[in-house]
Amino acid sequence: MNKILKFFLMTILIIVSLVVIIVASMFAYSLYDADYSTRLTENKRAELVEMGVENQTKHLMSTMTTKEKLNQLAGDVGQLLYVRLGIRFGMLKQYCINYAGRDEKNEIPPMAFSDGPRGITVGPSTNFPVAMARAATWDTELEKRVGDVIGQEARAQHANYFGGVCINLLRHPGWGRAQESYGEDPWLMGKMGVAITNGVQHHNVMACAKHFALNSIEDSRFYVDVKVDDRTLREVYLPHYQMVIDAGVASIMSAYNKVNGEYCGHSKWLLTDVLRDEMGFKGFVSSDWIWGIYDGQKAIKAGMDVEMPMEMHSGQKLKKYLDEGTLTTDDIDKCVKRVIETKLNFLTKKDPMVYTKELVANDDHCKLALEAAEKSMVLLKNEKQLLPLNKSTVKKIAVVGKLAVSEETGDKGSSYFKPKYVVTPLEGITNALAGTATVAYTEGTDPNELANTIKDADAVIVVAGFGPKEEGEFLVNDKSTEGRTQADVVGKGGDRFDLTLLPEDEELIKTVSHLNSKTIVSIVAGSAVICENWKNDVSAILMSWYSGMEGGNALANILFGDVNPGGKLPFTIPVSADQLPEFDPFAKEVTYDYYHGYTLFDKKEIQAAYPFGYGLSYATFETSDPLVDQSEISENGKVDVRVTIRNSGEVKGDEVVQLYIGFKNSAVDRPIKILRDFKRVSLIAGESKEISLSVNAKDLAWYNPVSKKWEVEKMEYEVYTGTSSSFHDLKKSQFRINEN
Ligand code: BGC
Repeated sequence: MNKILKFFLMTILIIVSLVVIIVASMFAYSLYDADYSTRLTENKRAELVEMGVENQTKHLMSTMTTKEKLNQLAGDVGQLLYVRLGIRFGMLKQYCINYAGRDEKNEIPPMAFSDGPRGITVGPSTNFPVAMARAATWDTELEKRVGDVIGQEARAQHANYFGGVCINLLRHPGWGRAQESYGEDPWLMGKMGVAITNGVQHHNVMACAKHFALNSIEDSRFYVDVKVDDRTLREVYLPHYQMVIDAGVASIMSAYNKVNGEYCGHSKWLLTDVLRDEMGFKGFVSSDWIWGIYDGQKAIKAGMDVEMPMEMHSGQKLKKYLDEGTLTTDDIDKCVKRVIETKLNFLTKKDPMVYTKELVANDDHCKLALEAAEKSMVLLKNEKQLLPLNKSTVKKIAVVGKLAVSEETGDKGSSYFKPKYVVTPLEGITNALAGTATVAYTEGTDPNELANTIKDADAVIVVAGFGPKEEGEFLVNDKSTEGRTQADVVGKGGDRFDLTLLPEDEELIKTVSHLNSKTIVSIVAGSAVICENWKNDVSAILMSWYSGMEGGNALANILFGDVNPGGKLPFTIPVSADQLPEFDPFAKEVTYDYYHGYTLFDKKEIQAAYPFGYGLSYATFETSDPLVDQSEISENGKVDVRVTIRNSGEVKGDEVVQLYIGFKNSAVDRPIKILRDFKRVSLIAGESKEISLSVNAKDLAWYNPVSKKWEVEKMEYEVYTGTSSSFHDLKKSQFRINEN
């Protein structure tokens, strides 16, 4: 082809691409700014309240045409352009709400979806630390406040449906999306899930818990078949869903993967028999996106209500099956009723406040992001009390590592958005010292520069860990991942094949620690990192997560002792990966066993490097033996357990008192112990407090797969209370559950 023609064609191509991108951006932005009346007018609201939601739903459905009904069952087709382009170019997503079921004629406002969990993704919202970091706060009251702000910012940006209650259990820390969830323990997961749900729903935003169920391998999420037995499913992988259902969560998102041979989105057993009939879920189910269902008819029959983000197999596509008679009006009506009833339930509630754009990332909300980041950091090691560093005596601090200057808020998948600002670790440390000491920085790649930078430093802070390329939602966003090898996915996010830091980071830490004995490592990650290769070389290790927009300030506040770390691990950090269940990111099939995390370590009697619930403080704490208020209860009873905790250190600090129950006398195979209550408390130096914890007998039931019932064993149970899941940190008592 002649050169001129080639040039001409290229120019046309570039111009067309630019026009498409600009139009798509404008379209996306118009969606962001459009307020498709996601609320009812006050008159309409009063009318509905008067009539009652149930009657109103019946009435509406009796007047709706089939087309109008089917419109409720899928995301709006108008989004097609955005979805296709947004996903292709990965650029439009954050400014788009995804609508479903807008019906102006019948005055049914749409669902207006924003993702999460680190904040509202449809605008420059408050960027909280990732959910895993928030789990490490063990502070449900704080998580409720985070949810409250997320709810406000959803409404201020016209969203009324929040997809950020991610409660998939961390079976293995290699899971790429671990950062979006709350760790390895169902109880902690459930309490955090309930807290965020309550916070968000307080603002009449429907919360969506996801991904139902057993979605905890990323690379093979579209095809892996997770095999699980009845007991493991109910005792280990679903209790946290039960907790959010009991708290009134509006919606559940189905997972991409298969469970016991069937795609979750097609599984009647999972979506109807288990979720609705057994667990009592009354809201609506939506599909995970684009590849959540493959057969609309099958999905509807299974109990799937809304296909997201748009109609590919459901919505109007169902008309064909209605005409053929393979789907009945009844099948459709069941779903439509659930959708409309849930929406109206939320729409008819009075708003607790007015939502204006000024709320988005306002000062108070950013302060909460700072508090969450400070409370999330977990001090794993602090040899010879190197930390906190003394601001008034340090002359030079060296900061090393490329992550010290990058805005690591987590992966760049569905939970990503660009916040108003992000304080990096280096900025936080520099702000904190405000010119009183030199802060020297190097990425650490040039040996001479490194040696010069850390020479004479009073301490060196190495910031090491991961970013979206190493872990997170799989950046290859299509189904063809099947058959790939590890080499094909390096640098594309997804699961971590290796739980150690990258070899270059380990090397850097070793080099730095040989040159300067006061080396502190700040780990940026979303779940467990094995530190064995270098942990003995350094003085201090701080798990500082993807800590959100205020992360750098939080880190500095901890390093310099303005804040005392009180976070606790929401998972076990092993000594080596072979202590964990097997994990194959490309598995086509995998069996989820009854034991993982600390229950597996307890059972196998092996020591973790850092146990679940572990974390140090600049203070020291002493706890009393647990005092159980009753030595015998019935299966409807409850025991209160009191523990006195004293801050025996010299500074104010937080401690998390944990209550585990043991099953030594069980007639069936049960965990050695499981978490059943916890409380984070703040104590000034020398202060003592009595903490009240409790456990209901019914929460100690096991699922008998033969009788298909939950059964409470009549026997003696051990009570363990203390400051981590390690038996070294726990004190013991006991009580009995009797016949009545
Ligand atoms: C993710 C969901 C998310 C959805 C919409 C999917 O790829 O799995 O968690 O809510 O995208 O962003």
